Amino acid sequence: MKLILLGAPGSGKGTQGPAIKERYGICHLSTGDMLREAVAKGTPSGQKAKAVMEAGGLVNDDIVFGVLKEAISKDECKKGYIIDGLPRTSQQAEKLEQIGIKVDKVLNFNVPDDVIVERATGRWIHLASGRTYHTKFVPPKVAGKDDVTGEPLIQRKDDQRDVVTKRLALFHEQIAGIKSFYTSRGLLVDINGNQAPDKVRTAIDKVLSGIRH
Ligand code: AMP
Repeated sequence: MKLILLGAPGSGKGTQGPAIKERYGICHLSTGDMLREAVAKGTPSGQKAKAVMEAGGLVNDDIVFGVLKEAISKDECKKGYIIDGLPRTSQQAEKLEQIGIKVDKVLNFNVPDDVIVERATGRWIHLASGRTYHTKFVPPKVAGKDDVTGEPLIQRKDDQRDVVTKRLALFHEQIAGIKSFYTSRGLLVDINGNQAPDKVRTAIDKVLSGIRH
């Protein structure tokens, strides 16, 4: 099963992506996570991407497609994958298709902007595992610590209010073109992301139950 998750930053892709991975045994390929890892490791791609990411801009296509292609070719992704965070532009959607990446469905998470801002600005993550928390909605058992490892949680620079607003504006500039690209291919499915995570999960399962895997 091959999927793309579309939605604004903070629309729930980062919560639902790992959950789909667990349930269906496929890879979760988050371009944001992979880029953050490259930045943390100080790889050449990471060094180039760092400043753009912190400012909430879009990283160069060569770098983004580079990290995606490397990850997708791994054995563990043979059963399928969830691409999360890409495409961010219609050009990236076309490029994905050109390099032979064909998916079964594109899940489009709809969430109003004010909800997105509240979610993003309260979000804390455990870098090593990708587990996410929220000071109001999903607080960790101990403030600032990961529930499983007890390691410190971090707040992403790009979850700060001014950067979130910029990322949302960028998202709105691009999303219409991406949606029409996938609608014309009969792949787009809207998911109401403005509900409790388990309800979003049920909505996703309903869509995925119709796909052979
Ligand atoms: P995310 O975790 O998906 O919100 O991504 C974090 C940051 O990584 C974004 O704000 C961009 O700077 C960069 N990024 C992630 N995916 C892409 C992409 N497909 N194209 C360009 N930049 C990206």
